[in-house]
Amino acid sequence: MAAHRLLLVYTGGTIGMIQPPGQAYWVPFNFNVIREQLPELSRFSCEIDWFAPGPPLDSSDLDPQHWIELAQIISNRYTQYDSFVILHGTDTMAFTASALSFLLSGIQKPVILTGSQLPIGEIRNDARENLVTAIEIASTCPWPLREVCIYFDYRLIRGNRAHKKSVQQFDAFESSNFPVLAEAGTRINWFKDYFLAENTISEFKPFFEMTTQIAVLKFFPGIRQDYIQQVLTIPGLQGVILESFGAGNLPIRTWLFDELSKAIQNGILVLNITQCEEGQIEPGKYATSKTLQEIGVISGGDMTFEAATTKLMYICAKTTEYSERKNFLLKNLCGEITIER
Ligand code: ASP
Repeated sequence: MAAHRLLLVYTGGTIGMIQPPGQAYWVPFNFNVIREQLPELSRFSCEIDWFAPGPPLDSSDLDPQHWIELAQIISNRYTQYDSFVILHGTDTMAFTASALSFLLSGIQKPVILTGSQLPIGEIRNDARENLVTAIEIASTCPWPLREVCIYFDYRLIRGNRAHKKSVQQFDAFESSNFPVLAEAGTRINWFKDYFLAENTISEFKPFFEMTTQIAVLKFFPGIRQDYIQQVLTIPGLQGVILESFGAGNLPIRTWLFDELSKAIQNGILVLNITQCEEGQIEPGKYATSKTLQEIGVISGGDMTFEAATTKLMYICAKTTEYSERKNFLLKNLCGEITIER
């Protein structure tokens, strides 16, 4: 049987950073740093090729154009490789993973993002285990893993459910509102019942566009009308995410509902997600969310902020039809939202 072929894509991040001589801060460095620190990569039975799309970047420097580039790198090499591992900074890893889950719609192979909280060149680091096990998972998973995931600190998480929760801990990511897909200990425990099912999307149809004409309104008690008005009237705005309280609640103010209603009538998608780490929007549970439902605010269910923003960027690029956009937002495209039956 032909050996498994894996493509390792290096975008940057702490994993490959070094301290310039005499400095206390870290900067991205080329991937030779990783190769030198991990000669045992050659001991894997799979064939590993390396690819660096450009100079390594801190992930806070990445934008939707980089996500599109990553989607193209994978699509262009899709038949050549059996799996893909992307080395990436942790700061925006959950955004990239979410964006790729949409752009690589229907992918039938594993795409695993990983990185670390400490550089691979440090004596004590989490880089080595994260990278080695991400490769092990991508190349030996005994069941078809047809999705974009993050492997970090012994856990495999669906990419569009991931959220960076810690700046310091090695346990940097949580899987929001969804169980982990695998756990690594002395052996790897697979929770295959949670893998994306084959019939979710059976055909690989990558897409290479994203719209950035979106905005976010994170609510806080005392938020002002002029602030909301300014945001909702940004020229060219196509969608706005409301980060609301609890189960999707906002202050009951006539002016607020009027502003939102006007925006919706102007064809702006208004998507409601919760500020809470756990749980979901429950439209109509309270009087306030009932009004939102009546004026046409779309429920984002239990989506993470990262999944909601990238899904909105993707949907707005995919179609210009308001009703089609709305249907896409309400649908579970690739495991990003729980749809109650
Ligand atoms: N600032 C770094 C990045 O996201 C943090 C990390 O990699 O952990 O690139």
